[in-house]
Amino acid sequence: MSIEWPTCWFDEPTKVKLLKLQGADAGKRAASGGVRTDVPMSDLTTFRIGGPARVLVEPLDPESAAEVVRRALEREVPLRILGNGSNLLVNDAGVDAVVLCTSRMRRAIREDNKYYLWAGTPLVGFVNDAARSGLSGVEGIIGVPAQIGGAIAMNAGGRWGEIFDVVETVTICSLETGEVRTLSRAEMNPRYRDSNLGRVLVLEATLSLKPGDPKAIVATTREHLLEKNAAQPVTEPSAGCIFKNPIGADGRKSSAAKLIEQTGLKGARIGGVEVSRKHANYFINIGGGASSDALALIDHVRQRVAKEHGVTLETEVKIW
Ligand SMILES: Cc1cc2nc3c(=O)[nH]c(=O)nc-3n(C[C@H](O)[C@H](O)[C@H](O)COP(=O)(O)OP(=O)(O)OC[C@H]3O[C@@H](n4cnc5c(N)ncnc54)[C@H](O)[C@@H]3O)c2cc1C
Repeated sequence: MSIEWPTCWFDEPTKVKLLKLQGADAGKRAASGGVRTDVPMSDLTTFRIGGPARVLVEPLDPESAAEVVRRALEREVPLRILGNGSNLLVNDAGVDAVVLCTSRMRRAIREDNKYYLWAGTPLVGFVNDAARSGLSGVEGIIGVPAQIGGAIAMNAGGRWGEIFDVVETVTICSLETGEVRTLSRAEMNPRYRDSNLGRVLVLEATLSLKPGDPKAIVATTREHLLEKNAAQPVTEPSAGCIFKNPIGADGRKSSAAKLIEQTGLKGARIGGVEVSRKHANYFINIGGGASSDALALIDHVRQRVAKEHGVTLETEVKIW
């Protein structure tokens, strides 16, 4: 099948939206267009690894994003969804697809205890706003370098809770049919680090928080951030946790980091990628790291942990 790779289909709607929504800045941004070709994914991922995306589309709002999905389906063009690229390992050969990046789809509205958020809204800004506004429920996900769409897709969280604790609705566009639907919380069945929504693009979400004392919520948020920063290599190029914490037959989770550490693999290195000495479930790109280095290190760690502990680690990081 020959693919007609798009280079200009989305410029028109993008331009219109930009001019309508962004005022004076619009001309400048519209001139760069909503579509770029051969964009290095190493610039768009926190691991700083990955070859070029053949086409990168950055719609400005949910409506344009759904249109991108429908056009890709019509033309049978492969499509991948990118948020902030903080849980991705991308092949150095690049991505032979249209990559729809939600980074420019930013809008956050707060009404009473509810937030109406577009997919590209940075998670950290929303969590800080909630704390300052005396709204509780997301203190524990401070420091996750995600966008709202990526956080929902991955059900981002940690030991203090996860984003689905506060999700009320999610609006999705099916990557199979292009249909847009708003799902209530009761219609969704999220799992550990997985929204379980199937092949969809998350367009927007409504999150419902609990009113509380702003001072106490700010203090808890800050405490969690300091604790996270002390335990994890947050300033180095990584893709977050490489493996999920394994769940035993009794339903209890064990720590992948502990298993890796007990296997003596902190500091293990292949090429330019190293198991973090600070937190063993993070791999660090120490400079010039290649996707093949990261993949080889994943295999090595998985095999060694399986041999020592009889546990097969499953990747949390998404591999493109
Ligand atoms: C320093 C550091 C700390 C981290 N700490 C945590 C933590 O405490 N807890 C935690 O859970 N994670 C953590 N992570 C991992 C990562 O931030 C989360 O998995 C986050 O949810 C990914 O969001 P993103 O926008 O970067 O998504 P991306 O990395 O861009 O994408 C991840 C996956 O989600 C899909 N996706 C992205 N956006 C959408 C969308 N709008 N619709 C549908 N699918 C989409 C992508 O296709 C891909 O499969 C950390 C990462 C780093 C680098």
